[in-house]
Amino acid sequence: MPTDIEIARSAKKRPIMDVAETLQIAPQDVIPYGHDKAKIAAHHLTSLRAKADGKLILVTAINPTPAGEGKTTTSIGLADAMNRIGNKTLLSLREPSLGPCFGMKGGATGGGQSQIVPMEDINLHFTGDFHAITSAHNLLSAMIDNHIHWGGDSGIDPTRISWRRVLDMNDRNLRNIVTGLGGTKNGTPIETGFDITVASEIMAILCLARDMQDMQDRLERMVIGYRRGRSPVTAKDMNAVGAMMALLKDAMLPNLVQTLEGNPALVHGGPFANIAHGCSSVIATRAALKMADYVVTEAGFGADLGAEKFFNIKCRQAGLTPNAAVLVATVRALKMHGGIAKDDVGSVSYDALEKGLANLGRHIENMREFGVPVVVAINRFTSDTSGEIAAVEAFCEKMGVPVALCTHWAEGGHGAEDLARKVTQLIETTPTEFRPLYPSDMPLFEKIETIAKRVYRASRVDAPKSVRDQLKRWELEGYGDFPVCMAKTQYSFSSDAKLFGAPDGHVLQLRDVRLSAGAGFIVGICGEIVTMPGLPRRPSAESIYLNSTGQIEGLS
Ligand code: ADP
Ligand code: MG
Repeated sequence: MPTDIEIARSAKKRPIMDVAETLQIAPQDVIPYGHDKAKIAAHHLTSLRAKADGKLILVTAINPTPAGEGKTTTSIGLADAMNRIGNKTLLSLREPSLGPCFGMKGGATGGGQSQIVPMEDINLHFTGDFHAITSAHNLLSAMIDNHIHWGGDSGIDPTRISWRRVLDMNDRNLRNIVTGLGGTKNGTPIETGFDITVASEIMAILCLARDMQDMQDRLERMVIGYRRGRSPVTAKDMNAVGAMMALLKDAMLPNLVQTLEGNPALVHGGPFANIAHGCSSVIATRAALKMADYVVTEAGFGADLGAEKFFNIKCRQAGLTPNAAVLVATVRALKMHGGIAKDDVGSVSYDALEKGLANLGRHIENMREFGVPVVVAINRFTSDTSGEIAAVEAFCEKMGVPVALCTHWAEGGHGAEDLARKVTQLIETTPTEFRPLYPSDMPLFEKIETIAKRVYRASRVDAPKSVRDQLKRWELEGYGDFPVCMAKTQYSFSSDAKLFGAPDGHVLQLRDVRLSAGAGFIVGICGEIVTMPGLPRRPSAESIYLNSTGQIEGLS
């Protein structure tokens, strides 16, 4: 079996100008980055305004397990399949983060015969968007410290600075640091730290902004610290936003690449899926809807986090209406939800599978709560038996949900044609009744309770008084209309990562809340959330190298 990078490298790529031509982008609106990557010029984006929107398909999944689900792989397979059956379809995916490629997660460009290329470039430096975000973020950090050094008049309290620094690297040693050591000439000592670039609020803003003006307004609203009396100090107060916009000028433009089958894909933005909303950019998704009849996009983690945030945050803020949701499940992961250990997922157990199907069932019910028609995609692994697949199909039939067995990982788009036909048919026969789960004017704590009870099936939310008081203060300060962005474990409906399956009656522990004033949401933190990952004992970086012809090996 060739590796993902070997498959990606042997792809017969079309010149990127040809790919752009299929989307009717005029050559002068294509900004090529080499032969196989391009950005789409702002002029083209504005020229699309009067066009009608295509249909929006969200790919989401059951709760992730170490067994793997394959949302990105299935998104790519589905888009290829849609194009194969004659539906003009465009992908709108997230950009991978460089840091985790050297840890254990691997890249985020799909796998097997369903990938986007150039795989190495997209996973590593790509078109420099993350570099731009890192620079804009750290410019603001430098300007804040400089402001304090020169005794600026904002009244900011140096012990209450909430703006940290970012780097696109898994580096646990940078989580907590002290800057400004070495005496007066070298700045004021400040306790701070680094987050990974995808956790920067600027990343979330880049992904939610509708256009350049909206981007600037949001950057200006970002809270970077507080005065002694607790009033917020913003990026605008630091006079930083003009220069930040200069750094972000090109990063705002969507990137165009292609699938292994030569179909177009927009890959733009990639916010964290815990303290942020985990979806590709609004700018790219909206442009995609204008350029194609169908758009396939993905949300991070399982549907309890990813789809919920896609609906309640991204779709609400951007005025998008999803037409269908594809819920990806694998037999292996379902068995893990039924209690099988990771090392045993290859062995047949109908008992565990039946139990684990409760997780799938819960997500199906939740998609219906949002009024979005749903299809289940079984992403087939070679170890799956036909009996196990039949059991999943029977379960879906019982729940009245269309289900398609998909073999795109092994076969490319051809293997997802049944899914493509079922998605198309569903969209044609079942109009979406999409509605966010809660109104914008609901009190913040009630929004969290609504998600906890209706999506996670918790009996109640436990929160310290300080957290409830903080939420009330934000309501008084004018942030009460914000949606909430839940940061909890992706592995369970509950805040306990070990509660697999479909637990109910649990208590959601809301530990802390944060304000992302520029992104436009309140973050609800349930459990320990790491915003700067570390590397594992044997990081994949140890097996990555350049071969004798200068090609990258070992990237997965
Ligand atoms: P997600 O987007 O849900 O995180 P990905 O699509 O990135 O998942 O897939 C995770 C990993 O699983 C990738 O390395 C991919 O190659 C692998 N994978 C996905 N589907 C299959 C499959 N059907 N068989 C074998 N490996 C698969
Ligand atoms: Mg993915």
